[in-house]
Amino acid sequence: MDMADFVVPLVIVLALVLVLGWRRARRATTIGGSGREFLASPRQLKLREFKNVIVADQRGTTEIDVIVVGNSGVFVVELKDFNAWIFGEEQDEMWTASYRDKSTHQFQNPLRQNFRHMKALQERLRLAPEIVQSVVSFTGNCEFKRPMPPNVVRGSYRGMIENAIGIRLTDTEVQRICTSLEALEMASTDAELDGHVAGLSVRFSSTTTCPKCGDALVIRRSRSAPADDAGFLGCRGFPRCRYTRNIDAKA
Ligand SMILES: [Zn+2]
Repeated sequence: MDMADFVVPLVIVLALVLVLGWRRARRATTIGGSGREFLASPRQLKLREFKNVIVADQRGTTEIDVIVVGNSGVFVVELKDFNAWIFGEEQDEMWTASYRDKSTHQFQNPLRQNFRHMKALQERLRLAPEIVQSVVSFTGNCEFKRPMPPNVVRGSYRGMIENAIGIRLTDTEVQRICTSLEALEMASTDAELDGHVAGLSVRFSSTTTCPKCGDALVIRRSRSAPADDAGFLGCRGFPRCRYTRNIDAKA
């Protein structure tokens, strides 16, 4: 066997291993990993992600599911998780989830809900309105029975944000916003642990809407409960969402 017959394939294999290894390492540090930073393809802009951020506004406090920051802007993401058909249009005040068993659940139009989030963040971080953009992401086995309103996606919100066109923030501005959000995110964790957030207690006192995922709350009874047991409130999305609360509990 000629030496070249052996060396050439070896070089190709080595090159492949190096490239694949490097790509995997890069992905591990940018996508997933800490879950706080990912690379936006195809332009390779870096996006930073903040979760469960509590922001004060005139009506108390409001909790934002996800905030993504990059040169293309600040994206305020509202997450919804439903196993249902969804009926709703941009202007409607309430949207409807229709379940397989023909029951329905009304919930606030998430675009309107997100509008309050955007306003609060805009004021808190002193951002121009055109920089802040709304994204509503529906996960779960759901299907839109009407044309999907703008800024609403099924599945992951990342594609929509990665493909956002235009540069609205300089690197310095991105840095300033991220520093503020880091502080807010840290304060939010403390506030949630304290359980003293006025606005959240309102949300958590609803007897019809799950405060964790927005799905419906239903009365459940454990199998071993006595006949006069009033049961408890549980999320309709169980086991996807495991939120439960005592019926008598006052927030
Ligand atoms: Zn739930």
